[in-house]
Amino acid sequence: DPARLAETAEQLTARGIDVLRVGYADLTGAERGRDLLVTHLPRAAAGGVAFCKSVFATSPMGDVIPIDGGIGDGLPDVIAVPDLATLHDVPWEEGVAHVIADIHDADGGLCETSPRNVLKRVVDAFHTLGLDPVVGPELEFYVLEKDGSGGWRRYGEATGNVYVTGRKGDPQNILIRKLRQLDGYGLDVVAANHEFSSGQFEINLWHSAALDAADRAFRFKTAVKELSRMEDRLATFMAKPFNDEGGSGFHLHFSALDQSGGNAFSGDDGLSKLAESAIAGIIAHAPALAALNNPTVNSYKRFGPDTLAPWLIDWGLDNRSAMIRIPPERGGATRLELRLGDATANPYLAIAGMLAAALLGIRDALAPPPPLAGYGYDRSKAELLPQHLGTALDALAADTEFGALLGPQFVKTFLDYKRNELERFHRHVTDWEFREYSYHL
Ligand code: GLU
Ligand code: MG
Ligand code: MG
Repeated sequence: DPARLAETAEQLTARGIDVLRVGYADLTGAERGRDLLVTHLPRAAAGGVAFCKSVFATSPMGDVIPIDGGIGDGLPDVIAVPDLATLHDVPWEEGVAHVIADIHDADGGLCETSPRNVLKRVVDAFHTLGLDPVVGPELEFYVLEKDGSGGWRRYGEATGNVYVTGRKGDPQNILIRKLRQLDGYGLDVVAANHEFSSGQFEINLWHSAALDAADRAFRFKTAVKELSRMEDRLATFMAKPFNDEGGSGFHLHFSALDQSGGNAFSGDDGLSKLAESAIAGIIAHAPALAALNNPTVNSYKRFGPDTLAPWLIDWGLDNRSAMIRIPPERGGATRLELRLGDATANPYLAIAGMLAAALLGIRDALAPPPPLAGYGYDRSKAELLPQHLGTALDALAADTEFGALLGPQFVKTFLDYKRNELERFHRHVTDWEFREYSYHL
């Protein structure tokens, strides 16, 4: 709407903003975008902002990946249309505001490959059941600093740091600084804490409607990386960056509002039948869901016994060794916590996948197995999660009712992209291979 854009440009100018960053998530969840001069906004963005489709067909290292509508079709335009409801000033970049865009194909239709559109599609399906899903994201990450010889080392020294406060585990006080900066960016962050390993932190975002929660988790990841770069550090959301330390999770708290605004997950004596069916759906579709919540080769190295990351497809009451934990709060705060995802997951796709699996459980009134009691890493009690990316991708390809909710064109593109990644990994000679095979053999 050109009139609305002109009005926005005027408001931005009035408060000293001269650049608008138009951003959106690629398939991996990394941000792509363009910086537009606000003076040009009304004319440059009236029909949306054009990008070449390579944004969905390029690896983080710049490999061109053959996807439908990609290089094989001449990399046509996609059009980014700013969603002005997501406009925020960026407090640490003077004169810059940020807005998230919806991606359309050149013919005007919503681009099925765009992760934000995938989530919108699943949320719409949820709405047809009279339910509005609510999500609270928690993200863990490592902060690294330059090691002086071209590499990165973990920030801070002490280990055994979980919930350690203050300078002991955070000598430069970067966590409180980030918390304040992220708050000023309208991310509705609640709390921050030190995690188990040195340099590993967690920040929690307050819950909200699923799309808004995904938008905030997406902006959060970019912001944390930007703020760290400004301090010459690297914040990494990689699932399992170190062999000797735990990985970084992307836990999702999840409930749903019914049409009267009540919590549909709350029942007379705890969980409603509907919540149990949501749990059952997530359990039934967990292998395919892993492809979205654990989308990298590295993701599967985070899983394992005694890690507080999951290993089995299970659920438990206030049990942190299970894939799904039911936190002890009841009534309005009744919810599940999906602990499956790792921090590299694309927030839109991780949340879309969780909602799609839950929706299938609710639609079919599935009942879950009994909740886990005690130790959650006993292999005789439940199925193993996929142990490799390839297994999860095959499960996604095979789970057609799950794929139908996400959109078949998206699933095909995602599988093409990820299978290419897996192929490139298998071709690459790693330092482990050299150590294992070069000496004795
Ligand atoms: N780092 C663990 C994970 O990968 C979670 C630890 C925690 O419960 O905070 O999921
Ligand atoms: Mg944590
Ligand atoms: Mg958690």
